[in-house]
Amino acid sequence: MRTIVWCEGCRRGSDAADPGLALDGLRLCAQCLRLLARRIEELPHMYEECGRALGGSVPSGVREHTSGGPLPGMTINATAVEVRTEILGTLSAWSGLVAEQREVRAPRRAVDQLAGFLLRHLRWLAAHPAAGDAAQEVARLARAARRAVAAEPVRRVQVGGCVEPDCPGRIVATLRDGGLDERMRIRCDADPDHSWTAAEWTLLRRALPDAAAEERWLTAQDISRLWDTPVGTVYRLASEHRWPRRSRGGRTYYSELAPHAHFTRHPRRT
Ligand SMILES: [Zn+2]
Ligand SMILES: [Zn+2]
Repeated sequence: MRTIVWCEGCRRGSDAADPGLALDGLRLCAQCLRLLARRIEELPHMYEECGRALGGSVPSGVREHTSGGPLPGMTINATAVEVRTEILGTLSAWSGLVAEQREVRAPRRAVDQLAGFLLRHLRWLAAHPAAGDAAQEVARLARAARRAVAAEPVRRVQVGGCVEPDCPGRIVATLRDGGLDERMRIRCDADPDHSWTAAEWTLLRRALPDAAAEERWLTAQDISRLWDTPVGTVYRLASEHRWPRRSRGGRTYYSELAPHAHFTRHPRRT
């Protein structure tokens, strides 16, 4: 006869609803298990987003600390730094527990590796006496990460190399409150005279014959902000028009040429 086990995740959750029944052999209900998986899956993205909130585009798995002072115009967001440290620490701690008790090799200390590892051992973790703690901690972390990203005052996205002849600069778009900051325009980080509005940039970019050689990759979020279009629409367009894509660190990147071409034909703003 099966004894009734209440979900440890529900019992620790903030909502006062009655706890669900734990799945057979586990300590979490179906809903809490699903949420835990989704949040672990999202943490590497949130980690990256928090990195961008620090003022630069931080590709996954790259430098955690930079030496020297901040770049001009860069905004320090302490919360995002703390959340990043916490995401890495938390994923690391739970992976360490799994690796030790299951006697398997622990993954490299990188958020996407750690998250992938935990997802592979999720059912085992959900049966562990600490399952409720894991669910609670990951939920708290996901909330903190969302807050930190939402609170981000300014974000800079690297769009690509400067198009002016012989300029070694990189073109950076400044985003504010989730949208392109029109006052800041799109500028080159080497020469302040190299600057464009979003509309000019799109046209200019398209006119360049060697644009394909300078192909850059953007996330759906980047595209959404650069062209002031909902993320859902970006995903839909990408899928409908088969935008070239690649995957890195659990994230999907689209060739910037596709949205440039699309939004030139269908401008969002006049
Ligand atoms: Zn539950
Ligand atoms: Zn330049």
